[in-house]
Amino acid sequence: MQLSDRITGINAGGSDGWGIYVMARDMERAGQDVIHLTIGEHDIKTDRSILDAMHAATLAGHTGYSFGSGSPGLRERIARRVTERTGVSTTPDNVLVVPGGQAGLFATHMVACDPGDRALFIDPYYATYPGTIRSVGALPVPVLARAERMFQPDAADIAAAARGGAVSLLINSPNNPTGVAYSQETMEGIARTCHEQDLWLISDEVYDTQLWHGRHITPRALPGMAERTLVVNSLSKSHAMTGSRIGWVVGPEEALEHMGHLATNTTYGVAGFVQEAASFALDRGEGFESTIAAPFRRRRDLVLRLLDGQNVVRPIPPDGTMYVMLDIRATGMSGEAFAEGLLKAHHVAVMPGESFGQAAAGHLRVALTVDDERLEKAMRQLLDYAAQAVASAG
Ligand code: PLP
Repeated sequence: MQLSDRITGINAGGSDGWGIYVMARDMERAGQDVIHLTIGEHDIKTDRSILDAMHAATLAGHTGYSFGSGSPGLRERIARRVTERTGVSTTPDNVLVVPGGQAGLFATHMVACDPGDRALFIDPYYATYPGTIRSVGALPVPVLARAERMFQPDAADIAAAARGGAVSLLINSPNNPTGVAYSQETMEGIARTCHEQDLWLISDEVYDTQLWHGRHITPRALPGMAERTLVVNSLSKSHAMTGSRIGWVVGPEEALEHMGHLATNTTYGVAGFVQEAASFALDRGEGFESTIAAPFRRRRDLVLRLLDGQNVVRPIPPDGTMYVMLDIRATGMSGEAFAEGLLKAHHVAVMPGESFGQAAAGHLRVALTVDDERLEKAMRQLLDYAAQAVASAG
């Protein structure tokens, strides 16, 4: 049978960027001890109190079909959180509950793009971005955020790409993979460009609780932006609930009404007991979110300390997230060659920057998702490997 171009084109026939991860898993299956610094998943499990709330919700009967756009209680809870944290008045009609941020990325591009439209996204990028855009039939167009600008996107580059006739721009701050949070100036430039070029702005904010200094800047709060911004968020990173598949989209009422129809005709909503657990989790407040984020902040500082006093492996000091990006161009190796060599030589798995686009070539992304002791061991091995690469090149 003939498969549609849309389904066969999702990965555009290319690699999905997870080659090193797969190799590492194969080594583990063969009995080798690999330190995994690849995937963005906590080394702790979902908190017992949230699981208890989920269990109680099943026993209380939240096991039937749930409402397409989300339960009134959770939409209300999310609207209150967004209003309190961003200062932008938000009602339940501005909120759609989705099965995770990824589903939100798909839904928001369905709002913004018709088949064939050009959809901009910032490179380096989270691995699914181009495939998500292709899934809705649109054309992904990367805009490079350069290492020389500390991976802050340049409004002039976005405007130049938009002049080709784009309809939307997808951003992510704090950013995976770079760990960089966009500055006020960057955000204002983005907002100005979205106005000038009449773009939807899709803002992926799944790391908003993992910010190491300053306040999270959401572009929806900038003047005139609420009507053209769709914010994607989830409890995956903030509450260590990756497997529960629960998140939300916030945006203008009219768009949200239509996304409700999309939910009805695709997922048919999110499990009621997961929504109940999400309300409980949000009620645990900022203190709980800080506890979940704390190990990443501590390990970020540990990595920066370990890399001090040498200049072969240069960290991009992260403003947030569960990652540190390392510039290894001084070794003369590509990120891919370095990551593969490191895995084979020392059984340490990191992601090559090339998995996240062109702008991160010659870099590595280290996920801070193992205990401090193993992280330190892995970083020392990474430094040894880099030093050896330089010695054998010279
Ligand atoms: N956006 C970014 C930038 C991510 O890093 C991830 C997951 O790693 C997601 C979205 C997807 O998150 P979720 O588990 O909420 O679907």
